[in-house]
Amino acid sequence: MSAPRGTKAIAADAEVAARVAATIRADVRATAAYPVPKSRGLIELHANENPWPLPAQLRGEIAAVLAEAPVHRYPDGAAEAVKAALRRALPIPDGAAIAVGSGSDELIQIVTTAIAAPGATMLAPEPTFVMYRIYAELAHVRCAGVPLRADFTVDEGALLAAIARERPALVWLASPNNPTGRVVPLPTIERVLSAAPGLVVVDEAYADFAGASLLPRVLEFANLVILRTLSKVGLAGVRLGYAVGHPAWIAEFDKVRSPYNVNALTQAAVPVVLAASDVLAGQVAAILRERDRLARALAALPGVTVFPSDANFLVARVIDAPAAAAALRAKGILVKNLHGGHPLTANCLRITVGTPAENDALLAALRATP
Ligand code: PMP
Repeated sequence: MSAPRGTKAIAADAEVAARVAATIRADVRATAAYPVPKSRGLIELHANENPWPLPAQLRGEIAAVLAEAPVHRYPDGAAEAVKAALRRALPIPDGAAIAVGSGSDELIQIVTTAIAAPGATMLAPEPTFVMYRIYAELAHVRCAGVPLRADFTVDEGALLAAIARERPALVWLASPNNPTGRVVPLPTIERVLSAAPGLVVVDEAYADFAGASLLPRVLEFANLVILRTLSKVGLAGVRLGYAVGHPAWIAEFDKVRSPYNVNALTQAAVPVVLAASDVLAGQVAAILRERDRLARALAALPGVTVFPSDANFLVARVIDAPAAAAALRAKGILVKNLHGGHPLTANCLRITVGTPAENDALLAALRATP
């Protein structure tokens, strides 16, 4: 509406729309923002989060450090306390450097921006995490996808052939992969590292659920950077991702990174939580137990095929995934409908492993769905 609101005249919507159309890139205007469903009050099995809140005592400890955080100052641009806590908690080699991000999403954008020379190509097995392609397209990086096999394992021959053909500046290997849940076998990763002319980022967002990580070996390879996040182990709301690699790679990413990209409250909270690694490890173990139970129960449902998973979610093929997702939504349960995303995930649902009660509610709802 262009009518003045209140006392001051405001710009007419049509005028603003014309300015937007004349100014914002056509490819940006043609895309939709990443869809984030409203989820409060629902059973949230759609976003691969940890379903367990932090224990009350730990939340109390976080509250105490947040109360002391000097929020009138900019945060530490180097996030030294966070990096020191990560080094204490994880097998990060001494000579490796760390770059931090507001979630690993931000680091995906940083890495993509850093390689986005005219004509540069990014390559990834597909389907995979959608943000690799979204940020590549925004940065005008060419995207080359290599389909997974029908059982969601990596087709190593096809991947190596594509690397030889495309000469990608950047290869993404999510291990375990989202949305399909399986790890990339270590020998395949090593052969990709040898064949790739540029950078290979192994995204270990779900590594805690797979029990396998290249982190201790990151410095053995000249072109490997490992990307990780605290989102899947219980801190999705805190937004902390990190990239680990040789200092020569990390120094370049730090030039692209905004100077104060990780806020002071996150920087205060993360060391407290990382010091309580037993709490997070206990929650991971509970999720793994539930993953096995849920997989068996889903597989026992008529018309449902469950794929093996190394992550905190399961992929289940059903008879009609859009209808099943809608029926679950009507019962207050959110899952991710993968149908329409990639031909390999036709009629698939991605279901985050929830608490036992949430998983029981999901199973009951699916049993009641025609
Ligand atoms: N990588 C993968 C493979 C993911 O699935 C996700 C979350 N969906 C991310 C990175 C980004 O996670 P965050 O930004 O929360 O760290």
